[in-house]
Amino acid sequence: MALQGVRIHITGIVQGVGFRPFVYAAADRLGLKGWVRNTSAGVDIEVDGTQEQLESFIGTLQKQAPPLSRIDSFNIDWIPTNNFTSFEIIHSEGKSGDFIPISPDVSICTDCLAEMFDPNDRRYRYPFINCTNCGPRFTIIKDIPYDRPKTTMGSFEMCPACQAEYDDPLDRRFHAQPVACPECGPLVWLEACNGQSRAIAHQDSAIHAARASLAAGKILAIKGLGGFHLACDATNLQAVDRLRTKKLRVDKPFALMMPNMETVVEHCFASPAEKEQLHSRQRPIVLLKKRPGSPLAEQVAPGQTTFGVMLPYTPLHHLLLEPEPGIPGCLVMTSGNLSEEPIATGNDEARQRLADLADEFLLHDRDIHIRCDDSVLRVFESGIEKGSSPNQGQPSSQYPLRRARGYAPDPVQLPWKMPPLLAVGPELKNTFCLTRDQYAFISHHIGDLENYETLRAFEEGIDHYERLFRIKPRAFAYDLHPDYLATRYVLERSQHESLPSVAVQHHHAHLASCLAENQHPGDRPVIGLSLDGTGYGEDGAIWGGEVLLGDYQVYQRLYHLAYVPLPGGDLAVREPWRTALAHLHQAAIPWEADLPPVSYAQALTTIGRHPLDILQQQLNTGFNAPPTSSMGRLFDAAAALLGIRQTVNYEAQAAIELEFLVDETETGVYPFEISNQVLHPAPLLEAMIKDLRRGITRSVIAARFHNTMADLMLRICHRIQAESDINEVALSGGVWQNMTLLEKMVTKLMEDGFIIYLHHQVPANDGGISLGQAAVALHKLNL
Ligand SMILES: [Zn+2]
Ligand SMILES: [Zn+2]
Repeated sequence: MALQGVRIHITGIVQGVGFRPFVYAAADRLGLKGWVRNTSAGVDIEVDGTQEQLESFIGTLQKQAPPLSRIDSFNIDWIPTNNFTSFEIIHSEGKSGDFIPISPDVSICTDCLAEMFDPNDRRYRYPFINCTNCGPRFTIIKDIPYDRPKTTMGSFEMCPACQAEYDDPLDRRFHAQPVACPECGPLVWLEACNGQSRAIAHQDSAIHAARASLAAGKILAIKGLGGFHLACDATNLQAVDRLRTKKLRVDKPFALMMPNMETVVEHCFASPAEKEQLHSRQRPIVLLKKRPGSPLAEQVAPGQTTFGVMLPYTPLHHLLLEPEPGIPGCLVMTSGNLSEEPIATGNDEARQRLADLADEFLLHDRDIHIRCDDSVLRVFESGIEKGSSPNQGQPSSQYPLRRARGYAPDPVQLPWKMPPLLAVGPELKNTFCLTRDQYAFISHHIGDLENYETLRAFEEGIDHYERLFRIKPRAFAYDLHPDYLATRYVLERSQHESLPSVAVQHHHAHLASCLAENQHPGDRPVIGLSLDGTGYGEDGAIWGGEVLLGDYQVYQRLYHLAYVPLPGGDLAVREPWRTALAHLHQAAIPWEADLPPVSYAQALTTIGRHPLDILQQQLNTGFNAPPTSSMGRLFDAAAALLGIRQTVNYEAQAAIELEFLVDETETGVYPFEISNQVLHPAPLLEAMIKDLRRGITRSVIAARFHNTMADLMLRICHRIQAESDINEVALSGGVWQNMTLLEKMVTKLMEDGFIIYLHHQVPANDGGISLGQAAVALHKLNL
């Protein structure tokens, strides 16, 4: 039979995921001769065989690729035979400037897990077991191509047994860069927090000692994959309380790690889609509804109806949480930091920064090159048919709240080819975004750019991504706000490098972000319900309740919430009673003592002028009371009015607690005034107060408030549709983390035939802003 040749070029996530051994094994099975090699742009293959063999080979490559790989392009050239005599994996070829995507970190695979608990395996109970299908990636990579010397495993020399596995194309650990064993790899030890940095237990005894300490109620700082966790027994009220006090975290919920699904369903309700997310190789924290009667300490998530839960994702976690009587079956695992600082990653850094927070350190000597927090998501099963909202094969129920470990640095694929751009994102929940070809590399969650440590993490992160993905930006995008640290970073850089930069309005970026991740071509305007707490407006006011009509390039602000003065600025964000009184003032509703924010304010005692007098003056003069159309603040005002919260301890706490009260069976709606494209909440507030005075329950009022918001937005969408015939709606902004509102909104819009775009890959909150900035910059600049 006549032989011929074929040359195949594959791009995507095809390195460090066992792709070459897979190609080798496929060729071996079919008796094909030739070679495979990594290049800096993907994988190249050349083989000889019969037409039938080659077609079967191509089919195998396309359909049975390894679980962690992702093929983005697959090019085939038929060529004359080369008369190869064997099949080989040949040396990598690098071209400067080329790049390949890098795999995120991956939770331990079932094969490695089985080996770790097999007493006859040489890696029995070894907490750093991994293979080409699992283990650390992004957090240990210093540069590309992805080879061991360019990772933090470079300092560990492989023993002969590991080397043999590493060199064998048919082994699961062929070219698994982090491969290691107890003979040659990283080790774990336990230290007391006494400033002496001396190990009190090593290896397996360290793990047993750590478990015993957790059982005894101690707080442990545990070095993980992308940073440190602070851990304690989640059923131990005292331990949880102590952790809360030490972390200066009053009542923001803590994440939990549970050993298995049986434990999860003991404490929470979990739908099949939620279980799928928990079990996914990204192993995010998934927010699940609490099961009444769960014995977990109320202090884990005070005032919440949900728990943030994750399953173990590293071998070390599995060893720590291995079920055994007397050992905690559920751990608080919160990020290892004080309040809002970035999480600690280095041993010495942890010894310094976490010494006052933890009793003991469980450390290891595999360095973390880049910090990466746990990702957080919810499941939203909207009933939207797959295909109406394309999301690249990801489960459409995925609704990210924080995108980091397991997802970053996977790029979002865009509907266009991008020049190299850097979008620096917002001030809070910062991520940045670098683009290249059809990819948007959105960084892991960086945090709030309010302190020096976070700013440094932001700058180092940008350097790292530019190097890893060989991106030299030709332009910059940034937020319109003149005082943001990220804005200053861009302005300095664009001047220094003589490159153009473009300022993007916050809510336009929200709309563009939602469109971009849904691969909207941008050839027609879409209705953007950009609802959130804060974003700098074109007129200098604080925007947040914005109905836009726009594409990537331009937008019109069609409707917005009426401006109210925000007395005290940021102070009002922390103290919703202030916003409530401002809203009452604006609506000409008297401050009567039976209204909870009024009575709260009257009861405040101070040495100087009474806060109510100061507030009154701020409202009268507008001094230190910037105008805002924020939807988040309207939720705050409603929560304060119902007496739910007059002050908050973390962002959006009042709105979250208002949502939890909602009576799901209630269908009533309050009036809302729309005049000259401005939305006035006065009739809503009057109706709420009337209900409150009539003794209607807060659950019913909270439900009616939510119904009103969904109803208002639906009415506006209908108005726009009537005027412009546009029936596509994008939902973006932090307010859409409110699942009750989202559910109501999506149901109504679907019933009325609107096409809906939701976030599935990046958060609806400000964590998705950088993607939108990049999309807008591309369309505004002529590059
Ligand atoms: Zn594995
Ligand atoms: Zn070894």
